Amino acid sequence: MSAGDAMVVIGGGQSGARAVQVLREGGWEGAITLIADEAAQPYERPPLSKAVLLGERTPEQGAIHREAFYREQGVDLRSGCAVSAIDCAAHTATLANGETLAYRRLLIATGAEPRRMSVPGADLAGVHVLRNAGDALAIAGELGPGRRIAVVGAGFIGLEVAASAVQRGCEVVVLEAAPRALMRAVPAEVAQCLVDLHRERGVDVRFDVQVKRFEGEGRVNAVVPGDGTVVPCDAVVVGIGVSPRVALAQEAGLAIDNGIAVDPMLRTSDPDIYAAGDVCSFVHPLYGRRIRLECWRNAEDQARVAALNMLGHDEAHSAVPWFWSDQYDMTIQIAGLPAFGSTRAVRATGTASKVFFAFDEAGVLVGASGVGQTGEIARDVRIAQELIARRARIEPERLADSATKLKSLLAAGAH
Ligand SMILES: Cc1cc2nc3c(=O)[nH]c(=O)nc-3n(C[C@H](O)[C@H](O)[C@H](O)COP(=O)(O)OP(=O)(O)OC[C@H]3O[C@@H](n4cnc5c(N)ncnc54)[C@H](O)[C@@H]3O)c2cc1C
Repeated sequence: MSAGDAMVVIGGGQSGARAVQVLREGGWEGAITLIADEAAQPYERPPLSKAVLLGERTPEQGAIHREAFYREQGVDLRSGCAVSAIDCAAHTATLANGETLAYRRLLIATGAEPRRMSVPGADLAGVHVLRNAGDALAIAGELGPGRRIAVVGAGFIGLEVAASAVQRGCEVVVLEAAPRALMRAVPAEVAQCLVDLHRERGVDVRFDVQVKRFEGEGRVNAVVPGDGTVVPCDAVVVGIGVSPRVALAQEAGLAIDNGIAVDPMLRTSDPDIYAAGDVCSFVHPLYGRRIRLECWRNAEDQARVAALNMLGHDEAHSAVPWFWSDQYDMTIQIAGLPAFGSTRAVRATGTASKVFFAFDEAGVLVGASGVGQTGEIARDVRIAQELIARRARIEPERLADSATKLKSLLAAGAH
């Protein structure tokens, strides 16, 4: 077998680690190389902002595969090793150490990079972002009773960090530039439920706040917004979103459009190169426009589809997006893309649990967001996911009526 008979996967995160498994399960008997620039074995990121910050588990406990998996499956895992260039014409990937690997098919699963602030003091010690295990351990080391933590950004990462920090006994301030939380992700009503919860737990959540600079001698001791206030703090966590890691693909000449642009088969503009996970953008058949998702389920689903297509299948990626976040004892689960519609029905599903349904202008169900106890929302959100896949048109009143069993709508063939 020549080196050109190898499947090469760049990025040992959620998508990359899952893709190598699917390649093997899908019957590929040749070489598989997984190039991962992090030193640790591939691990799940969702626990980093939750159980790891709470000190309840280590990042290693979230390993995606058992340690023996890579050896047993004949996957050449190159940890601590970055790819520095791709030569599409030669079918090679060059590593930072100068080594060159030939591939038959290549998967780019390089994920996303946390955005950093470009204000004075942003590089002071004690100003953190959260993307990897090292970031999480560094932030966990900042948390403790009486510590003052400033979180910049009321997105999911910022709010999860705030919840964990408060539970560790910290005094937490969240500073958000927008007029409300989770602006791009969920309807205002859902965001408000979460903000209320944070305020009940003592988090000081402030909106319309532009951070102008961080202050401190070598180490941060205050955040200065533009409203004349000063927010003293012992550490800062910046959670203002991520950017897809496209540099490799861009330099290789692949098409980029808010991420590496892929077709429904997750193929890039080069037919032998695929992309999956946070790094790629694709046209979702349900929404008819190019989107990029930053969530665990999508990374898993796309890894499977991309790996099968690398093996010669012809499968289009069409899964309805699904996302969850845990804050305190509350869960939020989102099916579809609520931001592409407006909320027209709210369904009470338990003591303090609700599901919000969003419809587009044509009356098609496009998103459902459940907030509350997992056991009280998970089932309805799952059924909503199926209804969204069917482009169901349902009278909002029926969804809002908790006497209507959602399953009956499925059985009735809502469409
Ligand atoms: C703290 C945190 C909490 C989260 N919580 C949730 C949650 O509750 N629910 C949810 O749905 N989603 C959550 N997510 C999002 C989810 O984890 C991501 O969507 C998922 O990890 C994306 O997988 P990926 O494989 O695309 O990218 P990643 O998992 O980021 O993996 C990409 C990997 O590629 C590596 N890499 C990059 N460039 C190179 C290179 N040139 N050479 C070699 N390797 C390279 C990176 O270092 C990284 O290890 C969370 C994310 C974070 C950071």
